[in-house]
Amino acid sequence: MKNKVILLSTFLLVVIVTVTLGGFLYRYFYIDKKSNQFDNINTNTKENADSKTIKSSETTDSKTFSEKSDKVNQEGDNRILDIESNQHADKTSEESIEEGTNSDMGSLQSDKMLEFTGVPWSQKLEDELKNVDFDSFGFSLEDPTLISDVNSLFVLVNKANYFPDEFVPINLVSPKTTYMGGGDRNRLRKVAADALDELVLEAEKNGLNIKSVSAYRSIDYQSGLFNSYAAKDGVEKANKYSSKPGHSEHHTGLCTDVSSPVMGFGLDQSYGNTKEGIWLANNAHRFGFVIRYIKDKELITGYTYEPWHIRYFGIPLASYLYETELTYEEFIALQRGMDIEEIIIKN
Ligand SMILES: [Zn+2]
Repeated sequence: MKNKVILLSTFLLVVIVTVTLGGFLYRYFYIDKKSNQFDNINTNTKENADSKTIKSSETTDSKTFSEKSDKVNQEGDNRILDIESNQHADKTSEESIEEGTNSDMGSLQSDKMLEFTGVPWSQKLEDELKNVDFDSFGFSLEDPTLISDVNSLFVLVNKANYFPDEFVPINLVSPKTTYMGGGDRNRLRKVAADALDELVLEAEKNGLNIKSVSAYRSIDYQSGLFNSYAAKDGVEKANKYSSKPGHSEHHTGLCTDVSSPVMGFGLDQSYGNTKEGIWLANNAHRFGFVIRYIKDKELITGYTYEPWHIRYFGIPLASYLYETELTYEEFIALQRGMDIEEIIIKN
């Protein structure tokens, strides 16, 4: 009996030692090897993130940022693997190359981003963004900026940036999986339409019905829409939930409002608490989309929380925005070396 106990104890000890050692070796060799594939990883990531000082650290907003960075650091390894498992990124690169953008716009602020978010980005993202002229975007509500690179996948359209009146996006097609069967208002640029179809089908596999209900809007259509809201609620209030013509992201052909039967295919903030809304928030980036107007960022994006409005950026950037919980406005500000403070909308 005593021998049996000793034998059993020895066996258990051997198992524990093997599992511990195995786990350590796996982490050390396998995950480290993966991380090395990203050029921009600073080997001191964790140290940097811990010791980093964010300029505007006294403000309430940046508290959220530092908390976020800590969370991100803890989950860093998984996130790197997530980014790498993207399957659709090539498509985006192809379209960016095909469409062409300005070149030699200076180096990206990837080090600053890393310092701020603690999240390294992939070489794919670096490649996709290297021709984007972040300085061409404006942040002034009083003196909005006319968008120059209108067909860029990375175009910023908001209250401070607007399209020329005659603008119509390239390659508009109807996704196969829309709610109303693909009328004019369900068109998207092909790259976004294909990605949306994949998202919808993947949702279906998970037992969820998510459909596009309102995608591309012409500037003329938006004009009518905005004027009717403004007549009802006044220009100022209408501007909080709708957009002045030329200023709507729906002009890009890269975004859509989605909904589900549980909402009667309507749009309401409670969508964020439904199974479909939760799945969307956690998975849209895998298909190149982000929830564009996230919670508590109204003073950055100019819009209240819209859990239904998804914007296509391609998988590398969408994943990065998802992981860092940055809005695109914040991302651009950091690219330009601006303080987040500078882009907060002050009324
Ligand atoms: Zn929308």
